[in-house]
Amino acid sequence: MVNANEYTQHLMGTTVSLMLLEPNETAVQTVFETIKILEDKLTVNKPLSEVMSINLAAGQHPVTVSRPVFSLIEQAQKISLHFNSCFNLAIGPLVKLWKIGFQGDQIPAARLIKQQLLLTDPKNIELDANKHTVFLKKAGMEIDLGAIAKGYIADVVKSILLQYQVYKGIINLGGNVFALGASLTDDNGYWHIGLRKPFSTDNKLSGVIKVIDKSVVTSGIYERFFIQNDHLYHHIFDPQTGYPLDNELESVTVISDSSLEGDIYSTVFYGWGLDKSREFLQKRPNLSAIFLLKNKTIALVNPNNFIFQKSDKQYTIKLD
Ligand code: ADP
Ligand code: MG
Repeated sequence: MVNANEYTQHLMGTTVSLMLLEPNETAVQTVFETIKILEDKLTVNKPLSEVMSINLAAGQHPVTVSRPVFSLIEQAQKISLHFNSCFNLAIGPLVKLWKIGFQGDQIPAARLIKQQLLLTDPKNIELDANKHTVFLKKAGMEIDLGAIAKGYIADVVKSILLQYQVYKGIINLGGNVFALGASLTDDNGYWHIGLRKPFSTDNKLSGVIKVIDKSVVTSGIYERFFIQNDHLYHHIFDPQTGYPLDNELESVTVISDSSLEGDIYSTVFYGWGLDKSREFLQKRPNLSAIFLLKNKTIALVNPNNFIFQKSDKQYTIKLD
């Protein structure tokens, strides 16, 4: 049995854990400190962060931000503008209105949703790459990087571990997992990552995803939601309607080399639904995905990059 060293801290509103094969206090300390610093730059759930200072200056003036924050916003804007998907970094006003996953979540008045929609146009985010400034042109606009911050941070954590010559381990940022290198506990080097059964209250799994040196990111409707009038309202919004996206999916898991990419695509694929995502994935053999559908089928797309072992009798696997 390999001696696992597990380190956990409560950060980014979730449990962050690192599992290393050998103890390495210096690496772990640097990782947790860096996560705290990045969270403090990117969050919109604390009054002071770089992103909040951009949001507070909306309609007034551009704000200079640090290089990583600028670069993440720049990438997020590109995806929002050119990807023909539901991904929209300017979704903040709707996230704040619905409060899903926070106290006071409820269906807002249609009039308020319409009003907030006017403040979510990503074209109204003005970037200056020379000065590293971000300007939200309309008062009330808000950038929200909630869909990609963890992915970005997971990649940074990976690069820190590599700098400290830690080549094997598990980085778990509350569901955003990076399985670093190969495992020593599996004969073939696979790490085993549990895929949560949607809506399970006792941490049951739908199955186990086996990977080597991959990021595994899941976006699901069961993570943060409320139910009103028998309808489920979850935390990924359709930027056209202002309501949570409503389609055939319960969750999307993306298996990729970069966790930022995985986090982007988990949201993008969620919005596209299975057919359009599958079409896209045909052109991207290095990117894989697992779709859990409301009709209790599981679709594995590009299954060459992982192994999926189903453990839930309720679901049936459909291979392409
Ligand atoms: P989590 O891992 O926290 O569940 P996801 O990666 O699934 O996060 O992204 C959900 C979060 O993304 C929401 O909580 C919100 O902050 C933000 N968000 C919601 N809708 C959109 C959207 N259409 N485009 C971009 N970000 C969104
Ligand atoms: Mg995401």
